[in-house]
Amino acid sequence: MKFAIVSKGDERSNNLKATIKQYLTEFDLEYDKEEPELVISVGGDGTFLEAFHRYIGRLSETAFLGVHTGHLGFYADWLPEEIEKLIIEIAKTPSQIVEYPLLEVTIRPKSGGEEDRFLALNETTIKTAEGSVVFDVDIKGEHFETFRGDGLCISTPSGSTAYNKALGGGIIHPSLNAIQLTEMASINNRVFRTIGSPLILPKHHTCFLKPIVNRSFLIGIDHFTTTYTNVKSIQCRVADETIRFARYKPFPFWKRVRDSFVADDDI
Ligand code: NAP
Repeated sequence: MKFAIVSKGDERSNNLKATIKQYLTEFDLEYDKEEPELVISVGGDGTFLEAFHRYIGRLSETAFLGVHTGHLGFYADWLPEEIEKLIIEIAKTPSQIVEYPLLEVTIRPKSGGEEDRFLALNETTIKTAEGSVVFDVDIKGEHFETFRGDGLCISTPSGSTAYNKALGGGIIHPSLNAIQLTEMASINNRVFRTIGSPLILPKHHTCFLKPIVNRSFLIGIDHFTTTYTNVKSIQCRVADETIRFARYKPFPFWKRVRDSFVADDDI
């Protein structure tokens, strides 16, 4: 099997990367940065996002796993002290593949230019540095509301524990093929009225955001943000593509949620 390793870049992660690379090579696995079948991220969930975007062109051929050099994470769920066990598992046992849904974001310009299409593992955020964002929100082809406020976050189920959670969104189990819209400080008065609650959309319900006031938008896709002007629409839906995780041990989602946010029995 061909593998690649993406490190956070700090000394600890780089040392761990070197160890994993050496051991796996000794087990006759081939290090291949270009066409890996397994991508190991070493760092945190942020590093995992980086690894995902680096290999986004190979999602159907590549499985991912994450080693956390800090605390346990949602994507990076192996610890440095488990490395020897992990290496033996990778070398000797076929992994179980678990798939999680992704978010597809399509940004269309007003004047007939090229559209941009992105996949997000956590979320997209739409904000502006020029006052409030104002857009019509259509769901499944019907006008739903006119939003005015700081912005919107549209997240995947696995991203529901990230930015979405800080906005008061619900935590969604990643076995559900859905996306979630959460508001950032909506203005509610006689003119503008929004639902105020997070909305969870199934795979066949597409959401369209159509700017009413022409602002430049700061559009975040996971850990990177781009400025767009003259935006005609932003389309969000559950992507056809998925991310594939290589699982060598059970680590149920709700246990990860509990350990991260409620109680860690090891502390
Ligand atoms: P960062 O600002 O350096 O770190 C964001 C934090 O979010 C890190 O602690 C990271 O964990 C954690 N995280 C990432 N994905 C997660 C997930 N699916 N569930 C729970 N926690 C998660 O930014 P970054 O490391 O480049 O990550 C970008 C992400 O930051 C964005 O996708 C967004 O979700 C999140 N973010 C959150 C807020 C907020 O909560 N108010 C604001 C902006 C951005 P590690 O420490 O393991 O890397």
